[in-house]
Amino acid sequence: MRIGILGGGQLGRMLALAAPPLGLTVSCLERTADCPAAAVAPVTVGDPADPAVLADFASSVDVLTYEIEGLPEDTLAAVAEHTPLRPPLASLHLASDRWDEKQLFLGLGIPVPRTARVDAAEAITEALEWWGGCVVKTRRGGYDGRGQAVVRTPDDLPAAVALLAAPGGCVAEELVAFTAEVSVLGARGLDGAVATWPLARNTHVDGILRRSRTPAGVPGDLEVLAASYLRRLLDHLDHVGVLALELFVVAGRDGPHLLANEIAPRVHNTGHHTPEACETGQFEQHLRAVAGLPLGSTALRGPTAMVNLLGELPDAAAVLAIAGTHLHLYGKAPRPGRKLGHVTVTAAGEAALDERLAALSRVVP
Ligand code: AMP
Repeated sequence: MRIGILGGGQLGRMLALAAPPLGLTVSCLERTADCPAAAVAPVTVGDPADPAVLADFASSVDVLTYEIEGLPEDTLAAVAEHTPLRPPLASLHLASDRWDEKQLFLGLGIPVPRTARVDAAEAITEALEWWGGCVVKTRRGGYDGRGQAVVRTPDDLPAAVALLAAPGGCVAEELVAFTAEVSVLGARGLDGAVATWPLARNTHVDGILRRSRTPAGVPGDLEVLAASYLRRLLDHLDHVGVLALELFVVAGRDGPHLLANEIAPRVHNTGHHTPEACETGQFEQHLRAVAGLPLGSTALRGPTAMVNLLGELPDAAAVLAIAGTHLHLYGKAPRPGRKLGHVTVTAAGEAALDERLAALSRVVP
């Protein structure tokens, strides 16, 4: 089976690396030949948003999947009539609009932070006054902290107001005083089977993921709840492939609870530990799902953490000299803040993991 991946970034590269053992052939469609996937898979150079380019690429494969978002939905819909698109358009659409996403979460009984559509400075001021702080986000197109502004005081208003001109408009969310950020990832197969991985606890700085750790150290009932939220979304969307759901853990009078932030209808940075730490990793699982193969076990083998390499590359030998480390470089040129790779760390126990992470923090810039 030939799988066409829309996008040839690091996620495409890691998907492509997982394909040959499953007997699958992968190719990518990407705007530039010099992309991370090019080192490991054939890349068709072209704009996935161009209907002719996309139709041509789709006719060369048996099934289409994607590692990027923000693709034009009408163009994809036309192509999907001839070549199956997995995950489906509904999942891509949901992730593309923060307001629609929150409305669906609520419709499925998944709690979210208080959210309002805002189209004027006065509305943001009201959100600040009512909620004591808010985050203004563009409805469409934001990622890695871009397209959002935190408003804690009136001095923060100008940056938030500047976002209002974004195409599609903005939402304001209450500024959540979370005790932790977690994500739950899972996959749904073509036959409707669902497998979810244990929660990851995530640390973001300036909206960019720095670290993930599993087990997440949250009560077991939150693990079960998060998995049930993800399952509702997977089933509702008739999703095929991996889906990630990011959540805030919030302290409450009756104990901690969860508020859903956003989904990603694809393999996800907070699942990068899964290939080494779990029976089946997210890249293999995604390919199994889109190819119509049975899903694998998502059982965790032991405690694990993932550290993103941002902006600068560490000395590879120094990283690999630490027991339990696995280095994943994306073949990208260093640039401030750019995701260049990640390190997965595994250990037999939490204390050993802490020691290894402490050693890693001395060699990762
Ligand atoms: P997002 O692009 O929505 O994933 O936001 C990036 C990061 O900004 C999140 O991982 C949080 O660290 C922070 N963030 C986003 N929304 C909120 C919110 N409503 N309250 C507090 N922090 C937030």
